[in-house]
Amino acid sequence: MEIRRKLLPLTVHILIGFTITGTTGEDNPEETGPYFEGDIIFSPIKPFSGRLDERYRWNNKTVHYKFEPNYPNQLQATFKRAIDHISERTCVKFQPRTEWDADYIYVISSTSCYSYVGRQGGVQVISLPNTCNSLGTFIHEIIHALGFYHEQSRPDRDEHVEILWENIVAGKEVQFRKYDVNQITTYEVNYDYSSIMHYRSTAFSKDSANLNTIVPINSTEPPETIGQRKGMSPGDILKVNRMYNCV
Ligand SMILES: [Zn+2]
Repeated sequence: MEIRRKLLPLTVHILIGFTITGTTGEDNPEETGPYFEGDIIFSPIKPFSGRLDERYRWNNKTVHYKFEPNYPNQLQATFKRAIDHISERTCVKFQPRTEWDADYIYVISSTSCYSYVGRQGGVQVISLPNTCNSLGTFIHEIIHALGFYHEQSRPDRDEHVEILWENIVAGKEVQFRKYDVNQITTYEVNYDYSSIMHYRSTAFSKDSANLNTIVPINSTEPPETIGQRKGMSPGDILKVNRMYNCV
């Protein structure tokens, strides 16, 4: 509890949350959260530092984790499936935090799902509540903690998707920010519509039943296919493996 209290001031970056429903009837709950890009919280140290910066990597390719007291068993089970999913496909390992591990993620159940991007140093929260209880969403948030932003934040995204700014809820345009090449790298992996880190086509839409906010261009990919939350795509796997020098 004390840790959570200490970290609460970080939520000063909160924007107003709202609810959207997807055309497919399924939500990506992390896209509806009140945080930057729905589910990212800024580093208190250097907010706009990107994943290129090596200091955001986990040492020894290992993420230590600790559940808050009373973190529900069924969410612990989803978390364990999510870390197994990642560690079976990459060289990143996950281990319960011991008293000797200074850096670790502290898994809490707050009002929405969110994560920092990369290792912050010391304890860092990751919020995975019941409203986000799906394997894909847990994997998505944990990949943020490994050091990845959203796929459509890539420097080259405008060659692959069009942002329909007029369809975005007023004030939410910031959720479609992209980063430059000094901040993030694509690891020379092609733009990936099937990434688990991609928004779906109606994210932050004024009218999610009828209006897309992000659509593939120069591609035969239909809008409905982006934003999957089933599992890591081949591109996701390659990028994590390259970030952590697995391959
Ligand atoms: Zn996210």
